[in-house]
Amino acid sequence: MQLLAILYIGKKLYLMLKSATRRLLINYLWQMPGFNKQDTINLLRKLTIPRCWNGVKLLAGYYAGMLFNKPIQWGYPISISFEPTTSCNLRCPECPSGLRQFTRPTGMLQTDFFTRTIDEIHRELLYLIFYFQGEPYLNPDFLEMVKYAVQKKIYTATSTNAHYLTDENARKTVESGLDRLIISIDGTTQEVYQQYRIGGNIDKVIEGARNIVKWKKALNSKTPFVFFQFLVVKPNEHQIEAIKKLAKEVGVDEVRFKTAQVYDYETDPNQLIPSIDKFSRYRKNEDGTYRAKNKLANRCWKQQHSNVITWDGLVVPCCFDKDASHQLGNLQDQSFKAIWRNQQYQQFRSDLKKSRKTIDICSNCSEGVSVWKD
Ligand code: SF4
Repeated sequence: MQLLAILYIGKKLYLMLKSATRRLLINYLWQMPGFNKQDTINLLRKLTIPRCWNGVKLLAGYYAGMLFNKPIQWGYPISISFEPTTSCNLRCPECPSGLRQFTRPTGMLQTDFFTRTIDEIHRELLYLIFYFQGEPYLNPDFLEMVKYAVQKKIYTATSTNAHYLTDENARKTVESGLDRLIISIDGTTQEVYQQYRIGGNIDKVIEGARNIVKWKKALNSKTPFVFFQFLVVKPNEHQIEAIKKLAKEVGVDEVRFKTAQVYDYETDPNQLIPSIDKFSRYRKNEDGTYRAKNKLANRCWKQQHSNVITWDGLVVPCCFDKDASHQLGNLQDQSFKAIWRNQQYQQFRSDLKKSRKTIDICSNCSEGVSVWKD
């Protein structure tokens, strides 16, 4: 009788674990655009038992938090963004780095500080994003840091405006083992491209993309998975078909379309909100102003499973906190795991659970909706 009960409970636990793992993967892939077979296989290869177990704990905490209506945090982040630098060569109108609007200092992430943190969390960490604000290739040690993370078998991704993808940098990028390279290209002609990427040169972007494609072939490498990211705004929405053609001609793996966050979305002074509804995070009111489509539920999967580290070690809840106004700890003074469990972090989770819309960054963010569109 006892044996039957043990078998029954064991089977129930196994089914719960299986279902939680499946939901975790679905939830995680939901945050990511599209699906690429080779890239997905590559990502799954980085899964280890401690990373899977950590993921299950995170997901269980997320659902337990919904059930008991309080913040429950089990496990450590499976995804972290590290900011290689706050410097940028462009002047994009919706980016505080481009507009030089930061109140925090500009600087470069240092290798020793980076490796110390990775050493602490690599067992749990699956996905490492090398971007936040700024252009990653401006940090001279950037690719060395990628190599370090690759040695720890962490999936690595970066996003670039591709102005520094010279022949040499393209070869070094492929050799570094980087898994994903996102090339921001928001137009197919110089005239349209420069309306958002102010100061940018589209010929350089295309040449950089060609360099990467060339070195992937030359080195017979399956990585990085390279795609064009096209941020759809009003000035470029008529070039959606043209960018697909260009991507094919250059030979990148894909083109993916992303909706744009607009700061003053109610009045949209820069006229950025596209007229094609599916590419907009906002809905037009009868009086011509806009409101967010997002329902702003009092929960956040993003802050449950990830966070962001600035170049100088500040830990912030997510990529929407561009000026690090919600500092949850400083890695110069505390370990990563201590910060993840500290009082400030708990307070932030609790505030979000009570009322997300009262937190400035959380009231205009995409959490709860997919920002990627076909
Ligand atoms: S800004 Fe959005 S993603 Fe970031 S913590 Fe708030 S709700 Fe989550």
